[in-house]
Amino acid sequence: MTELSAIEKLVTRLSPEPVCDDCITQTLGLSRHENADQAARELVGSNGFERAKDICSLCGEVRLVTRRH
Ligand SMILES: [Zn+2]
Repeated sequence: MTELSAIEKLVTRLSPEPVCDDCITQTLGLSRHENADQAARELVGSNGFERAKDICSLCGEVRLVTRRH
């Protein structure tokens, strides 16, 4: 499974709760934070994925989060 599809699955599972790049990185055990950031940006605009500054549902910090509606 690619990191992109793993991230898509994670965000979909948490939907409609948002999750930040750090929590995506930690939850999926990604090697680099930049990978989560890049993949999440690729998801935006397709299938109801959105990126915004909001409270992450996992860590509770205000960060750039990804969610699916
Ligand atoms: Zn978080």
